[in-house]
Amino acid sequence: MRVRAKPIQELPVFPVPVRIQGADAADSGPLASRIEAVAVSLRPWLPWVHAAMFVAFLCLVVGPVLLPASNLATQAASVANWLIWGLWFPLVFLSVLVAGRAWCGILCPMGAASQWMNRLGPKRPIPGWLRWEGTPIVSFVLVTVLGQTVGVRDYPGALLEVFGGTLLAALAIGFLYGRGRDKRAWCRHACPIGLLLGVFSRLGIADLVPKRLRAGGDAHVEKGLCPTMIDINRKTESRHCIMCMRCVQPGRRGGLTLRLRAPGEEVAAIERHHPAASELWFLLLGTGVALGAFLWLVLPQYQGLRQWLGVWAIDHGWYWVGRPGPGLLMVVHPEAREVFVWLDFLLIVGWMVAVMVVFAAGLAALNAAAVWMAGRLGARGPARKRFVSLGYQFAPVAMISLLLGLGGELFALLPAREAVAFKSTLLALALAWGLLLGWRILAAQGLRGWRASLALLPGLAGAAAVAGAWWPALGGA
Ligand code: SF4
Ligand code: SF4
Repeated sequence: MRVRAKPIQELPVFPVPVRIQGADAADSGPLASRIEAVAVSLRPWLPWVHAAMFVAFLCLVVGPVLLPASNLATQAASVANWLIWGLWFPLVFLSVLVAGRAWCGILCPMGAASQWMNRLGPKRPIPGWLRWEGTPIVSFVLVTVLGQTVGVRDYPGALLEVFGGTLLAALAIGFLYGRGRDKRAWCRHACPIGLLLGVFSRLGIADLVPKRLRAGGDAHVEKGLCPTMIDINRKTESRHCIMCMRCVQPGRRGGLTLRLRAPGEEVAAIERHHPAASELWFLLLGTGVALGAFLWLVLPQYQGLRQWLGVWAIDHGWYWVGRPGPGLLMVVHPEAREVFVWLDFLLIVGWMVAVMVVFAAGLAALNAAAVWMAGRLGARGPARKRFVSLGYQFAPVAMISLLLGLGGELFALLPAREAVAFKSTLLALALAWGLLLGWRILAAQGLRGWRASLALLPGLAGAAAVAGAWWPALGGA
């Protein structure tokens, strides 16, 4: 179905209220209605915004590599680096709390390019391996690990490899898969950032809800108008919605409407919003791999282990571990006096995977203990379902962990002592928010008072362990 934006003059400033059915459906308030009307009126400009962002993306990622070695090239590289790691990552992260995945729908050049390619491609049905919910977790882990081994934060070539490679994958998947008009199979099923933004958008205050919610729960439909394959009339979760506003028609009875809600509302009532085991595993594994990525840089134990393994390998005649590998896999920059050998590559990968597995297993075990305890104390529902739901209590601490890890350059703008205080405050707030969400999730399962307090203790221990693990990784925090 083709959807045409209504000119703003035709829109009532406060749309005629429509009766909204369903557990969470609600009238847009005046503020939400105004925001919605403005967003819809700006929709015709989207292609221009996408094109401008695409050009800016190419300048940032390709420009520093193409410039001949000079002061200008060095400065261009450091500006690009700061814009990406100091501004883009942290702001995109935080933006989901206010605007959902508007970054994806309005600004992201990769998503837009993937959508353009879909117009040209054969529009094949999305294959099972791509629809598997673990695909974006694998993609997140691979990109994070590769980013570390090639030095994505330090070398323009590595930035081009990681971001350019991701763009090529987005173009290829967009070209090949997704039936209907302008689909984004990449964004829904494979983008490492999309999964992350999707989980955390559940904590945010902006949501698009059906004016007439149809029963049956969320569904994946390739032929509808939604680029991320949401069955819009059955939508109850925000994670796949990229806020493109294609389905919003103010003043009409159908489609979706903007609803502003309290922070964390969707997570607190997660059992009514399609909880997903893949999201829980992403929270656990993503937090672990991000921690691993930073701990190897700061912990003296890593250097001790490297030394010991190096000696052991030479004693056993494994001289190849002391040789540099290909630049596509690891840092090989003799001009910057930094060259990784195979030992470095294997050890960084092994370290990150080990930290990820240990943290994920530890948090999962603590969550399982909480679920078991809650069950003994009277919580309702099957244990497996409660395991997934209660795991969302880790969402705030996971979000702040990733923000601290990926947004280091932004915090570096603050004086050292203030940065430590600020980061510590963020972690403390994340712990408190996680507790509050856990309390409300348990309340939805019928557990209150001292029983709920007791069942929260394992989760609190897990979140505190994550916060504590960031301590040495935060520059002396
Ligand atoms: S899902 Fe990924 S590629 Fe798609 S719009 Fe969002 S960040 Fe961009
Ligand atoms: S639900 Fe609507 S706003 Fe959200 S991605 Fe789909 S079409 Fe866009």
